[in-house]
Amino acid sequence: MRFKVTILFAGFSGKLPYCAHGWGTWALIQDGKHNILLDTGGVGLRLNFYKILEEQGLKAEEIDYVLLTHMHFDHVCNMDLLPNATFVLSQKEWDHANDMENRDLFIQESAILPMRNAKKVFVKEDGQEILPGVTTLMTPGHTPGCVSYVLHQDNGEVWVLAGDAAKNRGELRTRDVQMSLNPVDSAASLEKIVQTADRILPGHDGWIRVEDGHLVPEGDNDVKLEFAQGITVNGGQTSITIHMD
Ligand SMILES: [Zn+2]
Repeated sequence: MRFKVTILFAGFSGKLPYCAHGWGTWALIQDGKHNILLDTGGVGLRLNFYKILEEQGLKAEEIDYVLLTHMHFDHVCNMDLLPNATFVLSQKEWDHANDMENRDLFIQESAILPMRNAKKVFVKEDGQEILPGVTTLMTPGHTPGCVSYVLHQDNGEVWVLAGDAAKNRGELRTRDVQMSLNPVDSAASLEKIVQTADRILPGHDGWIRVEDGHLVPEGDNDVKLEFAQGITVNGGQTSITIHMD
């Protein structure tokens, strides 16, 4: 395969009443020449950020590019820990993030401050080539400037790194979305992703394969919830493992 994609943190779409966990998928893409991140993870990963990269044999300084899907807090924290990266995002998303009056509440000034002086590449339309074999797919709806990234593998397979344009298998299956600024655009973006991809990495879920129009989750995205010391649940368990169907 031309591109190796390693999921550094598997996203999760569970939530609590009134509270979105914000556990977005964070991944490493390597083509033999470049070390590329898909988004930069949420604040909960911050303490282990360097350790997670080290487990892949990488220092933060060795990350060349970051493909940002959108500017929500759970996808763009930790940007300040990547001194040599060029950040790719859509012009529309950057304008939205800097529109203090109209931007949505999941965009935090503290998250975008490190971006102001960082190296940036702005994308505007479908099919823009970021690196050889990496192109853009504009997928608005969740936010106005959401962009998905397309990996063209050397065996002809097309992998779409969807970001929150497709947060999970449920949205892909139903075309019905939660937390979208424009549900009509979101539905069109979901359709576009399914039509484009052989394999999809959603913004808060594991890999989904598209087989004859069917969406088949590949698994390996069980979530283990661990509780703090002294706490047990369900009659004595100190953790719960959630397996998604
Ligand atoms: Zn989001």
